[in-house]
Amino acid sequence: MYANIIIDISHEKVDKTFQYRIPPRLEKEIGVGTRVEVPFGAGGRLRRGYVVELTEKEEFDRERIKEVAGVCAGSVTAESQLIQVAWWLKERYGATMNQALKTVLPVKQKVKPKQIRLIRRLMTEEETRKAAEEAGKKHYKARERLLMALTQTEEIPYQVAVSQMNLSAASLKPMAEKGLIALESETVSRNPRIQEKPGERGVCLNQEQSRIAADFSERYARGIRETYLLYGVTGSGKTEVYMEMISRVLEEGRQVIVLIPEIALTYQTVMRFYRRFGGVVSIINSRMSAGERYDQMERAKSGEVRIMIGPRSALFTPFSRLGLIIIDEEHETAYKSETSPRYHARETAVYLAGLNKASVVLGSATPSLEAYSRALAGRYRLYRLTRRAKRDSRMAAVQVIDLREELKEGNKSIFSRRLQEAMRERLDKGQQTMLFMNRRGYASFVSCRSCGEAVKCPHCDVTLTLHFGQKLVCHYCGYEVKSPDRCPSCGSPYIAGFGTGTQKIEELTKKMFPQARVLRMDMDTTSKKNGHQEILSAFADGQADILIGTQMIVKGHDFPKVTLVGVLAADLSLYTSDFRCGERTFQLLTQAAGRAGRDELSGEVLIQTYNPEHYSIRCAAGQDYESFYSQEMVFRDMLGYPPSCQMLTVLASCGREAVLSEAVEDMNRWAAEASGQEEIQIIGPAQAPIYKVNDIYRKNLYLKHENYDILIKLKNHMEEKSRQAAWHGYVAVQYDFA
Ligand code: ADP
Ligand code: ZN
Ligand code: ZN
Repeated sequence: MYANIIIDISHEKVDKTFQYRIPPRLEKEIGVGTRVEVPFGAGGRLRRGYVVELTEKEEFDRERIKEVAGVCAGSVTAESQLIQVAWWLKERYGATMNQALKTVLPVKQKVKPKQIRLIRRLMTEEETRKAAEEAGKKHYKARERLLMALTQTEEIPYQVAVSQMNLSAASLKPMAEKGLIALESETVSRNPRIQEKPGERGVCLNQEQSRIAADFSERYARGIRETYLLYGVTGSGKTEVYMEMISRVLEEGRQVIVLIPEIALTYQTVMRFYRRFGGVVSIINSRMSAGERYDQMERAKSGEVRIMIGPRSALFTPFSRLGLIIIDEEHETAYKSETSPRYHARETAVYLAGLNKASVVLGSATPSLEAYSRALAGRYRLYRLTRRAKRDSRMAAVQVIDLREELKEGNKSIFSRRLQEAMRERLDKGQQTMLFMNRRGYASFVSCRSCGEAVKCPHCDVTLTLHFGQKLVCHYCGYEVKSPDRCPSCGSPYIAGFGTGTQKIEELTKKMFPQARVLRMDMDTTSKKNGHQEILSAFADGQADILIGTQMIVKGHDFPKVTLVGVLAADLSLYTSDFRCGERTFQLLTQAAGRAGRDELSGEVLIQTYNPEHYSIRCAAGQDYESFYSQEMVFRDMLGYPPSCQMLTVLASCGREAVLSEAVEDMNRWAAEASGQEEIQIIGPAQAPIYKVNDIYRKNLYLKHENYDILIKLKNHMEEKSRQAAWHGYVAVQYDFA
């Protein structure tokens, strides 16, 4: 037996492994992740390393391979576990060990020693509030935000202010000079302590919430570790329940990871955790540099940080006493990685929790079918919150509007008559409206009225998207071209932009309501750092009457003055190639509906659609998850989609079509060959929904079976075989478990 070992795991090149022989006396003690001592370099000095792989295949001359000297005492570290997770990711999802290691291990980066760590309030709460108001009058939005936050807590980590509140060093300095705040350096950093004071809890849990928290705590104390699904309608107070659970787990001296989709990771959310738990909270997000992330991971390792909040990748925080993983908005697509290993955070969390004897709490108002079916089957323990937590906060009244009827009555506008009327009412009353376009990006493209051709990207199989009415952009490869005056296919001058992107809606809204202040939020307006935070804050501050946007606007924000939500064309997300499109549509509409009437003002939701009978739309309008769940499950059962069946997609891509075809035919044959007696269903190979991207062709093969392990066996066989194929190195193959 041989062990492949990495000597310096914080090194950028984790792929640099060294092979050692495992002496028989150590065979029982050594596994993936074990920390060992090995002779290294010319002098044979002993160094420490981690085992990342066990193999019988020698990679050097037998004579040149040295022996592992020994196993380090206390050999299970946070890193050992992450290496085990990497191994599991590789096996479970298909990837190289190197890709898997890069996913879980933070890359060491030179970090400038941070001087400023903490922003402390120097004035009283009242004075701080006054200063905040003054900053607000001068339109110093970021400063106002910080000062308001400081009325609620005495200190805020510098990192939170910069990454979540959009403050810059340049704006902090004058505040410090004026004596509004103090910037304290790391040397002042005190022992981490839990600030929690009962008086600062803010809310008193209601009966439903406290029953859940008590049940969890009692089971935790009894040593029961399992996966829970907290299913609670929007605004039912899930976050308060999480915090209660966290508090329990911290009391045991253990650590907590909280996953929140990046888009919902607003400073309001972060502040709620910070207010309650103070300096032991840390946040990571994708806007941070590798160095900043590494820095946070180090603080977690040293024990200074005990609660890590962040998107998917926060799962790999090197905690040595992990006690709980919370995944908020468990159903979000962002929890699945789009690159190899294409892991799902939910499944990975359960595995990681198993290694650490930790529990997992999944939370959602619209649980994924996977999670809910497991809860119903008793594999997850189900908790329900059935009511909104705030007194006087009711669910909004939802109305479905049939756009076909509108057309029949002669209304060709994208706003139904009822929506126009409702928007006018809000403007008159000084209340806010959100208009939601149920689709990513834009729908506008340029096509020819003579021949009907749409202008396509020369490198990809997609239509180009019109930006600002003059530029055509490919959203897949970035290709850009000036919008043509004549049709590239037939030369006709009758060529025009079609569809209704968010820009178009903005234009039409302004035309219809010239007095309204309109904000738009989409990929264009949010591309700059913190752009999305800026727009949301401006809207929350009442700087606009109408906010128009894509799904970005429906997540994670409380807008007390929004009393109307208009969904412009609910069906747009129903017709995609994804078998989950019905589920996505239901989730988006339910979330959009949850935006209206979060406070005392009651809300109204208008869903415009050409498909008023579709169950995704009807159930969302009725806020009826159970009924959506049962109808969608019938569809999944019937067609053999997850969670009824397991599905593995083999994604192959190559610049040469013929080579690609050969490769997918091989894969098809190998899959059939490996399935043996098992009846697996093979669909394809077929062209991917978008066949060509960036001049690379793409084909898919779909494999279905009830048993996950069978699919893993097929995957392993295909991986093994393709390593020896003539096209190896030419065709990129990825595995994707749906
Ligand atoms: P969710 O995470 O389920 O959307 P939140 O935890 O964000 O819900 O709670 C929604 C709102 O209700 C928040 O403003 C929160 O402060 C408030 N809230 C939650 N629990 C209570 C409670 N027990 N009493 C009063 N207000 C509450
Ligand atoms: Zn034409
Ligand atoms: Zn392109």
